[in-house]
Formats: sequence, structure tokens, C-alpha cells
Amino acid sequence: MTALPPPAAIRTTCAYCGVGCGVLARPDGQGGLLPVAGDPAHPANLGRLCGKGASLADTLGGAGRLTRARIDGRPVPLDAALDHVADGFRRARAERGPGGIAFYLSGQMLTEDYYAANKLAKGFLGSANVDTNSRLCMSSTVAGQVRGFGEDLVPGAYEDLDLCDLAVLVGSNVAWCHPVLFGRLMEARAARGARLVVIDPRATDTSRAADLHLAIRPGSDAALWQFLLVEADRRGLADRAAEGFPAAIEAAHTDCPDIAACAALTDLAPADLARLADMVLTTPRCLTLFSQGVNQSSAGTDKVNAILNLEIALGRVGRPGAGPFSLTGQPNAMGGREVGGLANQLAAHLGFSDAERRLVGDVWQATDMATGPGLKAVELIDALEAGKIGALWIIGTNPAVSLPDAGRFRRALARCPLVVVSDCVTGTDTQALAHVLLPASGWSEKDGTVTNSERRISRQRAVLPPPGDARPDWWLIAEVARRLGFGHAFAWRHPAEIFDEHARLSGAAAARFGRHFDIAGLAGLSRQQYDALEPVQWPVPAGSRNGTARVVPSQRLIALHHRPPVERPMQPGELVLNTGRLRDQWHTMTRTGRAARLAGHAPEPLLAVNPSDARDAGLDQGGFARITGRRGTALLKVTIDPGQRRGEVFAPLHWSDAFAAEAAIGHLASPATDPLSGQPELKHAVIRLAPWRPGWSGVMVDRATRGPLRRGVRLPAYWVRHAVDAGRAVILAGDETPATAEDWRKLATRLARGFGAAIDAGPAIELIDAARGRLRLAWTGADGRIVAVIALARQPHALPDTTALARLLDPATDRGAAAPAALRLALLADHDPDGGDARPDPAICACAGVGRSAILAAAGTGPLDQRLARVTEATGAGGGCGSCRHQIRSILSEATPHVEPA
Ligand code: SF4
Repeated sequence: MTALPPPAAIRTTCAYCGVGCGVLARPDGQGGLLPVAGDPAHPANLGRLCGKGASLADTLGGAGRLTRARIDGRPVPLDAALDHVADGFRRARAERGPGGIAFYLSGQMLTEDYYAANKLAKGFLGSANVDTNSRLCMSSTVAGQVRGFGEDLVPGAYEDLDLCDLAVLVGSNVAWCHPVLFGRLMEARAARGARLVVIDPRATDTSRAADLHLAIRPGSDAALWQFLLVEADRRGLADRAAEGFPAAIEAAHTDCPDIAACAALTDLAPADLARLADMVLTTPRCLTLFSQGVNQSSAGTDKVNAILNLEIALGRVGRPGAGPFSLTGQPNAMGGREVGGLANQLAAHLGFSDAERRLVGDVWQATDMATGPGLKAVELIDALEAGKIGALWIIGTNPAVSLPDAGRFRRALARCPLVVVSDCVTGTDTQALAHVLLPASGWSEKDGTVTNSERRISRQRAVLPPPGDARPDWWLIAEVARRLGFGHAFAWRHPAEIFDEHARLSGAAAARFGRHFDIAGLAGLSRQQYDALEPVQWPVPAGSRNGTARVVPSQRLIALHHRPPVERPMQPGELVLNTGRLRDQWHTMTRTGRAARLAGHAPEPLLAVNPSDARDAGLDQGGFARITGRRGTALLKVTIDPGQRRGEVFAPLHWSDAFAAEAAIGHLASPATDPLSGQPELKHAVIRLAPWRPGWSGVMVDRATRGPLRRGVRLPAYWVRHAVDAGRAVILAGDETPATAEDWRKLATRLARGFGAAIDAGPAIELIDAARGRLRLAWTGADGRIVAVIALARQPHALPDTTALARLLDPATDRGAAAPAALRLALLADHDPDGGDARPDPAICACAGVGRSAILAAAGTGPLDQRLARVTEATGAGGGCGSCRHQIRSILSEATPHVEPA
């Protein structure tokens, strides 16, 4: 018998960040994917992937995949659910008018999906209430680029990272948030000596690799750029004839007439400011990259324009290796904006003037065009609260976690008569508030296009069939449109037809209104040509299919003034809460939370606190902090971090109620918004800290992969769950003070039942030392194998390592009932029953899945660079995206004192 050759790899794109890496994916023949690889032919990553991208295959299928429609929690046929949605939309429109309908979309959606939602809402339902989670991510850049360039346009290309002599990163921990681009920058540095400046209040893995780190006062970026503009003018480097220059320089002089004024506003040393000015102003190939630290601010648009002002005045926009570069957070934030994904846009980069509305309406055959901009995300909360929204369709996002003042949003959502959520997973916090769930195709099943940070349109291709009743978002939207009587305008049979309509509309808009966004050259593709479409940067005007690497737009400086954040500490003990991403998680963890190897980097959300603030608040390393804000509370473990500025703390944004007891940081975030962009100030909220000292701590591992949590069972004050290879681990702590063996046993059993562990067969092993406050319980299933283990202790240091405990469930090491002595020994002594090292081995390189011990074992001896090279060669660690190389370097230099040869 001849073995069948493995199926060819399908070229697609990563599901996560705005780098837009190309991915090679291949079915494993059992409904999943073989481990994915980076696509060497994709210009965005040239074969590289970060840990998240490399783990895509680990996040698919299994429990937690939404495969059937539900109404009020009950599974229903998809047709019935779509009928219900159409009826609800019809009713909302009849009762509240067009403004009673709203959509909340996601930068994860494909362009074709986004296009369909916008067309239905803005062209047929008469509602521009179509906003997206891109509002939280980079709408200030959009507003700034529209003011400075006349259009939402990133002039440069990733190639500029290879060509620059100086990269200035502003409010961007690119080593964690855009790891593949960080690797590219590090290569430019090694190859050509490019220097790196990081402007960020926090010390990060990015700043540790920099030549200069300016730990700026949060919110004062505009003042820094005002100073650089004044300094450029003083040195005779600024183009005084540039449009808007006189008013802009006058405003800059008002804010920062000299270096001392800038130092006072930014809390930076004058010597550092002088060094920055010398570096930026004397390096023609200076590339300024910025992201959420600039955008997520009540003055985000002005910050963006302060950066653009300097670049325009220096004549660097659109020059190779130079100019401004917005790093997009999400994989298709830019594609969504191309089709009008924000409430203040129409498709094809058009607005709501009569002429623009007419053009779009003609192409769409619209029956009811929206007359003006709709509600931005935070405004939507007000409208929901006021009962003005009768139907809201949320697609591919989790706003109950990610919106600021998330508790208020949840309460407001409860007032909406019809909440529809389309998603590919179950169990999100938002779904708990929905009336209808629609099963959507997920990554690896979807087919369409995305646009990354450098304007590059790439195909995201289907590799697997969607399970159950799951369907593409565009198809679900078109089916509701058909039920509402608009079938003639939504009769697409394939995403290629939507893309063709989108490309034609862009050509008409570019011709009539002179927009740079123009992909008319991609109109008229056959299905085969669409399927084979190579990554291409817009504009792609009619008659060409080659794309354009750099664009030089019209340019205008904007007069602006530094404004501090809205919420500021006023009382003793008040601190500033900053929020952001971690290296190995994505958004609210609905996908990355399923991959065990991505949990190793940060199994729990930690609050980073400056040592002095920790001392003042009575907090200990590894202890707990009760965080109280003006809108909500959280309970997190503390890591004392000298890289935090005094008075400022940092918490990750990823955890939701589905993953932790009280770690959804959106409850604390400020709803203050930028007046132009409507982007909320997610990085600056006032909080207070107080220690919380639990009566016990614990860890449970079992074979479940997620909830459901059992109703009516009291859960502890602190719990966080994460994936392990054999199932899940839950880290626990509670208020109770168990005294007797029976108290400990009852507590352990209550916890295991509360988290839904399969413990019905009763405990197989029980070790309780009430005097010392320690418990270990293991339960076995019908096959004699261990199904759950829980360890509790009065003192956290008496707990076993989670990884070692999880190994007891691993089929490779599980001795089940056959070897209770070995298990007892393992549970008691906290060592691996197979004789391995059970000490913590945190994941350092998520791309290669390599931990600290493997790194140390491979390093050998010799100079640091040689040991680093040996680790990469032997284990692959540090050879993927490169974002962990600094950490590996630190481990090696700390672990093995080395004497350089004489
Ligand atoms: Fe995906 Fe990582 Fe590339 Fe971003 S950098 S697109 S998360 S592989």
C-alpha cells in the first residue's frame, strides 16, 4: 500500500496582531492542524513567527467551540436564530428608528465580513451606529492621520525598519506586542548598527534593548514632540513653508519654549532631552514608530499630530527608512477602516457629505443611507443606558471585558431588548449577556483578506471546514439582510465577489474624491485569481497589480497643546493604573488561553508595583493587592518592579471573568475619551492599593479544559485558571481559616466541585496535616487514572509547583491507581514520580516552547554571545521572533558567572 503524500501547506495569515505574518498551515487529517510555520515568502515576516503565531494550531477545536446557534441559552437551528435576529432588527427599527440599531465589530474580522456589516447597517438600515474594537486600539491615529495627511494613511513600509539608522519607539513595547517587527529591528541593529530609543513610562523588554530609554510621565508625549519641533526650528532644520507651520510652532513655543519647560512637563532629565534631540534631528533616516501608549489617551489625536508635525516639518514623510509609522494592534484594523468600520466613516475612506453618501449609495444600491456619523464605542454605552438601542449585534469581540468602565457597559447591555453575539468560541463574558449566539467560522475556517500595518492586503485562507452550523460572518449578515428584504444587494456566493465590489467602490471613490486608498487594480479578479492573490500594498490603482511601498500624502501641521490625562491622583495613596498586553496572550484569551505553552510566560495576571509604592501600601512580592478604582475593583498578585515609575502601576488587560475571579481590568479603566477620535484613555486611571492576606492558598489541576462552574457553589476570592497539557490548572486563595482535617477536606471538595472537576468517584489519595495547614487530595476516574489533584496550604510556599502537579495528570507520567506509593511520594515530596526535576521551569521562548532549565542545560561555558548562540542552535530558543533574546541573555549572565578570556 502506498502512503498518501501529506497535503500541501496552505498560505494564510496569523489571527493576531497587526504585523500580519504569513503562515503555512496544513490539516493533520484528524480535524485539526499540524503545527504551523512562518511563510518565508510573505514580506511581513519572511518566515518568522512569534510564540502566539507558532501556537495557532493549539487553539482550535475541542470543547469551547461554538458550533450551534442558541437563543436564550438553548440550541436552535441556525435558520431559526437568523429569523429571530431579523425580527428583532425589524422591531428595533420600527420602535426606535434607524438609530435604534447598532453593530459592534472587531479588528479580527476579515475585510469582506466588515464590508457586509457596514453595507447592511449604513446602506439599508439607515444606521451609522457601526463601531469596532479598533476604536479602543488606534482611532486616535486615524483621526491624527486624517488631520495631518488628509486621509487615514500610513506612509511607510516594514522595509523602513531595515533601512533606518535610528528607530524611536513611542508608547510601544514592540518586543511583546509586535515581536516579529522587534526581531527585524534587532537584525537591522546587528547588521547596520541602527540605534534604538524607547519612550515609555515603564521599563520593558523593548526598553532594555535600547540605546536610550526615556521613562516619560504618562500622557506628556505631545509636550516632548512640541519641544523637538521647537528645537528643529531653532536649529534651522524645519520647513517653515510647510502648511500649518506658523500656528503649530507658535503653539509649540507656548507649551515648550525651552528644554526646562519640556523637562517639567515630561519629568525627563534635560540631558536626556538634549541627547534625544541630537539623535532625532541629526539622523535623516529616523523612523518613529508609535502605538497604544500614544493612542489610548484623552489627548491621543494631538499626540499623534505632535509626532506628525515634526516629521512633516523635517520633510521625512514617505522617505525610505524615515517618517512616522503607526503600529496597528489588530490583524485587520486597517482593512476594517477601508470599508468604513468606524461609526464616523463610510466605506472607501469616505465621510458623510452628500456627494460621498451618494457615491457609496449608488454602488451599494442602498435603500436607506445613513445620514451622518453614528455612535462611537463609549457613546454607545450611553445610548444603551438610555434605552435608545433596540438591537445590538456584536461580532468577534468581547466588549464586556475590553470596554472601559466594563461594569457600566454590562449593566447598560442588560437594557437592550436584543443582543446578538457572533463568535467561534463559547463562554465569553459578553455572551453571558446575549440573547442570541450565532456560530461563526474561526481562524483556519475563514476565507477573505486582511490589511496589516504597512497597508499590505493578504489573503487569509480556509484550511479546515467550519464545524457544525458555523458560517462565515459575511454569510450570516447576508442571510439577515435577505430576511429583511435586501437580498438583491447581498447575493454574494463567495468572498471574492465582496472583495470585487469593495475594489470597485474604492476605485470610484479615489477617482471622484482623490483618495489614496484605491485598489481598483484588484477589481475583476476571477475566483482563481482571488484565491491566488499575493500580498500587496495599497494603493493598487486601475491598470496595475503591483501595489505601492510608500506613499507621500498631502501634509499639514496642526496647532495643538499638551493636555494632561483626565483622571489624575489628587489624594495621598492614589496611584495611576496603566494597562497593556503581555507577550504570549491576545485580547481576552478566548483563543490564546487554550494553548498550554502560551500560559507558561504569565500563568497569572500580576500587578507591577514600584518598590516604594509597595512598601507604602504594605504589599509583598508574590502577595495580593486589592485594587480599588473609581468604578470597580480587582484582586491581583503583586510583582515588585523597579521598572515602574513611582506612583504608577501596571496590569495586563487579558483576563476576564471566564479566566479569573476578579482580574478584568476594564472595570477600573477610565471612560474619558479623546474629543476627536473618541478613543478611551485606557492607560490612565486612578486607583488605590491595599494588601489582602488570604487564609489559605492552593492549586488544582484536572482534565477539564474550561468551565462550566457549578452554580450555587461558593468560589474563593482569588482564582485564576490556565491551560496545561493535560487539561487546566486553577490557582486559588481564600479567606477561610480551616483548622481541622475535616475543614481542609470540605474546603478541597467544595473547590473541586465548584470548578466542575470530575471527582464523583471520591478521593484516591488523601494527605492532610491540619497542624501544619497542608492538604493534598487526588481523585481517580473509572480507569484508575488520576483525574484531579488539589493542594492547599496555609502558607503559599508550602504548595507544590503547578507544572509538577500537572505532570501527575500527563498520560506519559500518570501512574494511576497502579502505583499509589509513587504518587503519594510525588504529592508529598513535590518531585516528579518519573525522577525528573519538578522545580518551576517557566517558559522563556514560546516560539520554540523552551524553558529556563533547557536554556541553562544547552548553554555550556564560554563568552556570553557564544552561549547565547549555542542555546539558539541547540534548542531553537531566541531563534524565532527574537523577543525573548534579552531574557535569555539575562538568564545566562545571571546563572553562570563568566570570566572573559584575557
Ligand atoms: Fe502573529 Fe506574532 Fe506575527 Fe503578530 S508577530 S502576526 S501575533 S506571528
